[in-house]
Amino acid sequence: VTAVLRTNGIDNSPLQIFVKAKKKINDIFGEIEDYVNDTVEYMHEIEKEDHIVSAEKVKQIEEFVDKVHSIREVLSRDHMKVAFFGRTSNGKSSVINAMLRDKILPSGIGHTTNCFLQVEGSTSEDPYLTKEGSNERCAVESVGQLAHALCKEKLSESEMVRVFWPKNRCLLLRDDVVFVDSPGVDVTPNLDEWIDKHCLDADVFVLVANAESTLMVTEKNFFHKVSKKLSKPNIFILNNRWDASATEPEFLDQVRRQHQERAVDFLVKELGVCSSKEAEERIFFISAKEVLQARMAEQGQTASTPLTEGFQTRYFEFQDFERKFEECISKSAVKTKFEQHSQRGKFIANELRDILESIYNEALRLREEKLKQRKELTDKINYTEQQLVIITQEMKKKIRNMVEDVEQRVSKALTE
Ligand code: GDP
Repeated sequence: VTAVLRTNGIDNSPLQIFVKAKKKINDIFGEIEDYVNDTVEYMHEIEKEDHIVSAEKVKQIEEFVDKVHSIREVLSRDHMKVAFFGRTSNGKSSVINAMLRDKILPSGIGHTTNCFLQVEGSTSEDPYLTKEGSNERCAVESVGQLAHALCKEKLSESEMVRVFWPKNRCLLLRDDVVFVDSPGVDVTPNLDEWIDKHCLDADVFVLVANAESTLMVTEKNFFHKVSKKLSKPNIFILNNRWDASATEPEFLDQVRRQHQERAVDFLVKELGVCSSKEAEERIFFISAKEVLQARMAEQGQTASTPLTEGFQTRYFEFQDFERKFEECISKSAVKTKFEQHSQRGKFIANELRDILESIYNEALRLREEKLKQRKELTDKINYTEQQLVIITQEMKKKIRNMVEDVEQRVSKALTE
């Protein structure tokens, strides 16, 4: 149903929380980039005039251009990452394939994943892989060939092979979920190096356990190390191979309860990563093999196989896991991937506003100063004009008096 809804454009997948947030933050940073570029251009224009803006401030804003550009690059690469751990043959590759609805990763008794395998979406039409430290694209025609390529190589157990799978073949990959499959935690691994190299940026960890046995010390040990390095990692526990329980229905409830209690204790009391209520939403009993078979048959890729007792319930539980997983990973990724960027975006926007405000205030101050200067000048002119008027009037008066005096004296002299 989810697949149909999504292809019809009514996408209510919880992954959309991340997809939409990513689009929004990308758009916002696009706008910030425009503002920064406009501001730099404007500052260059006014830098030459009036000393309104200092060279230091221009440099500060110019530095934002590169900063915003690199944030946009990081944002466009941001994805949600889920890493799968567990003992060899517990079904890690099968779970990933079931979620991706295709046999992408090699799985089976004859094959053991002896290195880290990352599956991510690509816009390329054909699948390909790259090995650590190289950009060379090796074409992958089939799972068999991928398995062969991986076995042939002498890869170290902490090395990473990246499998690029066409996005248009899988919705989870289209929505930027990246899957990481690990070698079994029982393969004498250097756990610390694994965590440092591949786990620090994981949003969700999935422990694929075997429902036919109890959690092993090696499996627990790994998650103890993870929860020491990361604060409250999101951990799901999948009790895989639950189809085996169908052969012993009389013990089904009892076995389930026992696994459930132990898994809750592990998450809540031992690791302290969640509350008991949250833990109930993190533990599932599934059969990856059945889900994969059913989905392949649904798509007409393989013939359908006879169903084991209780298949439908296990299938629903797998779907329930997928939904809870999608909710958890998208919320967690939004927080871890975008919170820092949005803080930085706010900081840059505030700095821009402060600088533009200071330019505006400086311009206002200069304008007032000029107006004042002009007023002083006009006052002076007015005063001089007034003085001139007074002086001229006095002069006129004096001259008139003088003329009158002379006239009087002349006429007096003439009469005399
Ligand atoms: P990984 O080593 O953890 O990646 O395990 P794989 O996915 O390669 O699985 C090992 C074997 O277990 C394969 O033969 C799978 O077909 C089988 N297997 C995986 N999941 C299940 C399951 O749910 N039920 C059963 N019966 N077999 C499974």
